Amino acid sequence: MRFDTLAVHGGERVPGPEGSVVFPIFQGTVFTVEPGSGYHDIKYHRLNSTPTQSYLHDKLAALEGAEAAVATSSGMAAVTTILHSLLGAGDHLLVGDCLYGGTHDFLTQHAARLGWEYTVIDTHDPSSWEVRDNTKVVLVETITNPLMRVGRHREVIEFARSNGLTSVVDNTFASPVNFRPVVAGFDLEFNSATKYLNGHADVVAGSVAGSSELVEKVRHTLNLYGGSLDPHAGYLLARSLKTLGVRVRAQNANALAVAEFLAGNGKVAQVNYAGLPQHPDHAHASELLNGYGGMLSFRLDGGVRAAEALLAALKLPANAPSLGGVETLITRPSTTSHAGMSPEDRAAVGITDDLIRLSVGIEDAEDLLADFAEALDKV
Ligand code: PLP
Repeated sequence: MRFDTLAVHGGERVPGPEGSVVFPIFQGTVFTVEPGSGYHDIKYHRLNSTPTQSYLHDKLAALEGAEAAVATSSGMAAVTTILHSLLGAGDHLLVGDCLYGGTHDFLTQHAARLGWEYTVIDTHDPSSWEVRDNTKVVLVETITNPLMRVGRHREVIEFARSNGLTSVVDNTFASPVNFRPVVAGFDLEFNSATKYLNGHADVVAGSVAGSSELVEKVRHTLNLYGGSLDPHAGYLLARSLKTLGVRVRAQNANALAVAEFLAGNGKVAQVNYAGLPQHPDHAHASELLNGYGGMLSFRLDGGVRAAEALLAALKLPANAPSLGGVETLITRPSTTSHAGMSPEDRAAVGITDDLIRLSVGIEDAEDLLADFAEALDKV
């Protein structure tokens, strides 16, 4: 089955309970077991084994082309649970430069306390990657936030394989519509499902996909740390997954249209979108990805003052962080997603204070372009 068919039919129970076409919410926390069954047969919400959870896990696995998947209570629960599953005190991990702010803050604030060492690698320069005797994991992001860089991911997969590391990728910005990491060879993939997977800015969730063995390891840790996804959120997420392909392809097309429009405007100093031929990663991103995603960032001539004037003049985009929903959102990362980084760290990776990030929604592209044209005239 192709992606859109899997999105609708993957993981579905046929016939559904009581003949329901839509898999219902099982709100109950616990279910009866057959006499003689053991601990592993228990269906309990924190153990991530209730019918609504198992249905969602099967749907996620089908979409990712993975043996197994598990949902978590947030994207941060996904990444922290994965790292806790794979690392112990004294272990070392390699992490891509320009990580999501929360992941970056988690490592800077907690890695040393947990006895983990980490080294930041340039994901574009495989020749600079080095392992130590205690290196266990390499963690990268498919498309980085907020500069939309696409690292040498095929080389990351090969490097991990040849050095016995577990390769982990945060696929939030791409979504499985644009890149299926497990199919490409990553050992574990996670998403902030809060973003594209749910896509309606009304659920916080995470997802993890990979081999049955690795996902079971993550699920076991998740059961103990307690970050399970609530049934109502799980129901909404499974509902949203059915339209994932339709939504993300519309967002890809709108983002490309906005990026091209901005790149051609005299007041715009820089546009970061891998779909533009002038983007430094355009060539290898085109080989790796099915689409360049719905996220882009840009800078205006005129710095922070011009950026703030544009945000105030735009009518359609909501001034808010987060991303991946059907509504277009706009933000300055230095004040929101990357506010936790020191100004020096931000400057080192190119996140200037005047950088504007756009999460393009599914509005009609003509209306978005007209709004930008009008707002840019006022800046
Ligand atoms: N990874 C990326 C790339 C993100 O953008 C986010 C949130 O913005 C996260 C992880 C964390 O996700 P959540 O907010 O669902 O915990």
